[in-house]
Amino acid sequence: MAKPSFWNNAKRYYDLKSYWLNRLGSRVHKLPIDAGFTCPNRDGSITRGGCSYCDGRGSSLRQAGPLPPVGDQVRRGKAFYRQRPKAEKFIAYFQTFTNTCAPVEKLRALYDEALAVEDVIGISIGTLPDCVPDETLALIRSYAERFHVWLEFGLQSIHDRTLDRINRGHNAAVFRDAVQRASGGRILICVHIILGLPGETRDDMIETAKAIAVLPVQGIKIHSLLALEGTELGERYRRGEVTLMTREAYVGTVCDILEILPPEMVIQRLTAEGYPDIFLGPAWAQNKLAVLNAIDRELEMRDSWQGKRREEQSLSLSGE
Ligand code: SF4
Repeated sequence: MAKPSFWNNAKRYYDLKSYWLNRLGSRVHKLPIDAGFTCPNRDGSITRGGCSYCDGRGSSLRQAGPLPPVGDQVRRGKAFYRQRPKAEKFIAYFQTFTNTCAPVEKLRALYDEALAVEDVIGISIGTLPDCVPDETLALIRSYAERFHVWLEFGLQSIHDRTLDRINRGHNAAVFRDAVQRASGGRILICVHIILGLPGETRDDMIETAKAIAVLPVQGIKIHSLLALEGTELGERYRRGEVTLMTREAYVGTVCDILEILPPEMVIQRLTAEGYPDIFLGPAWAQNKLAVLNAIDRELEMRDSWQGKRREEQSLSLSGE
């Protein structure tokens, strides 16, 4: 398969910036919002304790004290990004914790507030697969008729044994069901995965990508497992009980995954660096640019790109 021309970019994968330029002809920034949600995997609605690698902040925004109203957060973010060249349109990104865990009327008020700000063309809603009842999906679907709407599911792994091990609170069947119920309309679905989770081999990680590749999913975010102070995983890492991926292994696995993803799937993120004040490892993850450059180099060395091995994959999936 040749590199797809519809990307209109110089990269070897379909990055988010290119996607927006192609779709709207303008540059779009995601503005992170903390709307005051909590995590059902911590507050007891589903489980307590949280995921083994999670420090409980939800995102870097949660450290800031009393929360400003959603509209103020959007306007502040806009003012910041407007200083950068060509920042024309914005997506309000409901990022912190689980942004569908509230009655529909409360969700409607929060989403409306963000969408009322000038130049906000849509919302991106981060959530868990077990927190999207049908009435919530109906609300989100109603926005998708008029705006760009992404629903971002934290999956992390398709393997139930891993999800159990990290205390994720949901299994793969719940994720598949959520994706199927959310799909079929105009909602765009993005899935988050983590590479290097305890007990997973490279093949396990590729299996996760294969499972996503055959679902109606339009975007993906990938990052490596990070060890953070104050987390169960961080403590195990300190005791030498957990091995984190090397940069070489991470870059190689990301490229293997990119090669089998559909070429139209938007690659929203390929790195994460964690919070510097509690960061334990792996050290290489803190240099995002170096990781991205290494991925570019690896794809170039392979003379490969996103989707190049997809046909081989389909043949092997169909058993031919
Ligand atoms: S990673 Fe997400 S789901 Fe897991 S405990 Fe943290 S906030 Fe909750």
